[in-house]
Amino acid sequence: MRQSALFSATTRDVSSEETAVNAILLTKGGYVRKVSAGVYAYLPLGLRVIRKISDIVRRELDALPNTSEIQMTNLQPRELWQETGRWDDAGMREIMYRVGDEQAYGLGATHEEPVTDLFRQFFHSYRELPIATYQIATKFRGELRAKSGLMRGREFLMKDLYSFHLTPEDLDAYYEQVAAAYLRIYQAMGLKAIRTQASGGVFTTIPSDEFQVVTPVGEDTIYVNEAGDHALNEEIATQEEAAARGYTRTEKATEVGNIFHLETKYTAAMKAEIATADGARVTPVMGCYGLGISRVMGVLVELMGSLEQGAIRWPKSVAPFAVHLIDLTKDKVGEAVYQDLRAAGVDVLYDDRDLTAGAKFGDADLVGASVRVVVSPRSLEAGGAEVVPDWANHPERKEVITLGELATRLA
Ligand code: ATP
Ligand code: MG
Repeated sequence: MRQSALFSATTRDVSSEETAVNAILLTKGGYVRKVSAGVYAYLPLGLRVIRKISDIVRRELDALPNTSEIQMTNLQPRELWQETGRWDDAGMREIMYRVGDEQAYGLGATHEEPVTDLFRQFFHSYRELPIATYQIATKFRGELRAKSGLMRGREFLMKDLYSFHLTPEDLDAYYEQVAAAYLRIYQAMGLKAIRTQASGGVFTTIPSDEFQVVTPVGEDTIYVNEAGDHALNEEIATQEEAAARGYTRTEKATEVGNIFHLETKYTAAMKAEIATADGARVTPVMGCYGLGISRVMGVLVELMGSLEQGAIRWPKSVAPFAVHLIDLTKDKVGEAVYQDLRAAGVDVLYDDRDLTAGAKFGDADLVGASVRVVVSPRSLEAGGAEVVPDWANHPERKEVITLGELATRLA
């Protein structure tokens, strides 16, 4: 991709309304643009990061048994929500936008009702269970406080997965597989997420599991055990109770995922019944599993971005581009290199703009590509391009590679 062709711009001045580090850096870098509080457009760089995060999630979820991806609608008929009583539920009223003539629809804040509606239309026999489906889609929630950039949106991206099982034991087994997949997902994105016991929400007495990342800006407080691999949310235990159980470290954290046992709340309300082998009818139990795709992007920037340096040090797996080719020559010597890299299948951003070196490097620090390649009069004199193979971790390590060798070395 040519940098001159991106439908976005980097910017020096960010509205003073933006106080979150992620919002400031992502706006400066031209990843996102705020439309109103908690509502952001994703620009080319931002969308690339979102896609890379989504692909990591897909890779893990597609490997789960009987699990396939779908895309549900965000216009959700009121009648569906009336079936479960959530249309008139006070908590739901607060967060769900209602639209259309006589409020015929709610805007998708979560998708238990529509997924259960699909389920009851398709599945009738015990032979067809367990079955699960997920989507990566926009959610709308009337969040009161939307001041944390991508971390708390009114319109945001979530991965939501739903599973249906004949027995609680079968649900438990799947639930643990999802929990393990979540830990691998966060790890692949360079995040240390701690499985955290939390309240189960309004429908169940079974606790839920959150995945929390320790951040200074975290809105949750958790108590972490000695090993640092499990925690309790303060909503289920006092500090004293937690300490007595070995959860001695108190941290601020951000919830990047949350998985729940829903029991038969939705399947019973919506009469999703399954015939058993002996002809009896049972109501399946259900699990639901959320993961905040856009919030993860915000958290990554909070942890790996620096306001002082004006830089985002993305982990390799989610950086918007693998290679950033910066051309500082008058006669665009980098153009041929760009063509070579593209032909070799390299995920490359080519800075072909007529700007000062300072401006280009400033922007490059916000792009945070893993490999930085500079073609300049000086590098050419030294024999080729100056390459920083691991910019995020070792910006000082540089080598000169001849222009002819670059494509094979970086492919
Ligand atoms: P929170 O307590 O932070 O408001 P929640 O418990 O209401 O979140 P869930 O309904 O469990 O959120 O949603 C699943 C996941 O979606 C969360 O773990 C979080 O990562 C993400 N998420 C929830 N609300 C938002 C939001 N307003 N903006 C961005 N991501 C969100
Ligand atoms: Mg939650």
